[in-house]
Amino acid sequence: MSRFDLVVVNGTVVLPGLGPQRMDLGVKDGKIAAIAASLAASDGAEVVDARNRHVLPGAVDSHTHVGIYRPFSADALSESTSAVAGGTTTMISYFRTGSHYLNKTGSYREIFPEVLKLSAGQFRCDYSYHVAPMTNGHLDEMEWLVDQGVGSFKLYMFYKSLTLSSDSTKGREYTMSDDYDLGYLYEIMERAAALTKARGRRISLSLHCENPELIRTFINRIKAQGLTGLEAYSHARPTLSEELAIEEAVVLSHAAGCPVNLLHLSSGAAVTKGIEVKRRYPDDDILLEATLHHLMLNWHNAGGYTAKVNPPIRTPQDQEVLWAAVKDGHIATVVSDHAALSKDKKEGDFWAAWPGFGGTGMLYPVLLSEGVLKRGLTLERAVDLVSANPARSFGLYPKKGAIAIGSDADLAIVDLTTPKTVTAASLHSAQDFTPFEGMQLNGWPVATVLRGRVVFANDQPVGTPGGDFLRRA
Ligand SMILES: [Zn+2]
Repeated sequence: MSRFDLVVVNGTVVLPGLGPQRMDLGVKDGKIAAIAASLAASDGAEVVDARNRHVLPGAVDSHTHVGIYRPFSADALSESTSAVAGGTTTMISYFRTGSHYLNKTGSYREIFPEVLKLSAGQFRCDYSYHVAPMTNGHLDEMEWLVDQGVGSFKLYMFYKSLTLSSDSTKGREYTMSDDYDLGYLYEIMERAAALTKARGRRISLSLHCENPELIRTFINRIKAQGLTGLEAYSHARPTLSEELAIEEAVVLSHAAGCPVNLLHLSSGAAVTKGIEVKRRYPDDDILLEATLHHLMLNWHNAGGYTAKVNPPIRTPQDQEVLWAAVKDGHIATVVSDHAALSKDKKEGDFWAAWPGFGGTGMLYPVLLSEGVLKRGLTLERAVDLVSANPARSFGLYPKKGAIAIGSDADLAIVDLTTPKTVTAASLHSAQDFTPFEGMQLNGWPVATVLRGRVVFANDQPVGTPGGDFLRRA
């Protein structure tokens, strides 16, 4: 019998605190069991030769939307296939009641078990959930959700107008919420803060920071001018709206003592505001997040109307401010905000088209190509941004997020030298388009390993879906 179930030999392994090292890995029972200068191929029942390759801990994509726009189980299967194609071995996905997803409201005590049932046996990567309270009843279910392994919550600040404006009937049909305003936000924060204290670990609130009153005003102006397209959309949801929402959020989170994640900062103004509020409240737990699309896309290079997303795609100048904050460490996590949908949902009336698109299959390739190879980010920092930091921030470290003895053997074995052109097909997603079409990226996995099993190799998924639900504790 072999000493190990799997050995990964001849690769350059990115280790926490040490960076890239020529090391071999031995895997036993799904865990890293040996990190050694040299292991024999005969030590492993299975052998992966990683010569001229880099071996990274699998990415932990802490912002995805599995099941938002497509049937839940089918979406879990197709989009987790895209994940492993890009070296992502854990997806932490947002779930809420209301329109899209399961298109209903009700108690999470009933709906969350249904989500887990629809997920079981469908994922090729491991997965976990953040949940958004939407109704008053949900506030009292937060503790129960924490007991189910949900360690983080969400509020969409721009949904407020949907329940307050003259159009509130239609808005409430969409959110299926009760009063969804700053008072409700504060109530969630108080509960998350109390749970953080009681459990002695980080129970955080993620915030989509855009101010709805400003969006309403600016959308009306831009529509009145008859404009459409990415530039118009950016002006219709201006960076001012992000800045104001961040201010509102952190004044409240500081008062409540609630750890917060400021999601998908899209603009130079939003990042600058995020850095400013972290300085103002140095003892507060405020995490800044960026998406790969705000780092990669601008009005000119994105695939036109298909890149409609909230918050919007901005300018090349905004991108460089984002990259600088990624490099200097102000931004802690880079994510995909993956929400797969078909191209027909993007066509027709620009203002009615659905926002979002997929990207989880490009998380490592974007960081490695544009961050490491083009902008001098170290490999270790790239690993921090898409694997270690999200795992730490959301209660999964060191099971996930590190190549270390005893950690899950989740590996992205990547080729830094061979560029590949992004196409919809290359991403192995159900999405029939990509706003990144034609871009050249390096850093694609030649093999992706989940708990010691090769789940993607030779540009194909391998085996049946074996992803586990990760109960965060
Ligand atoms: Zn999102």
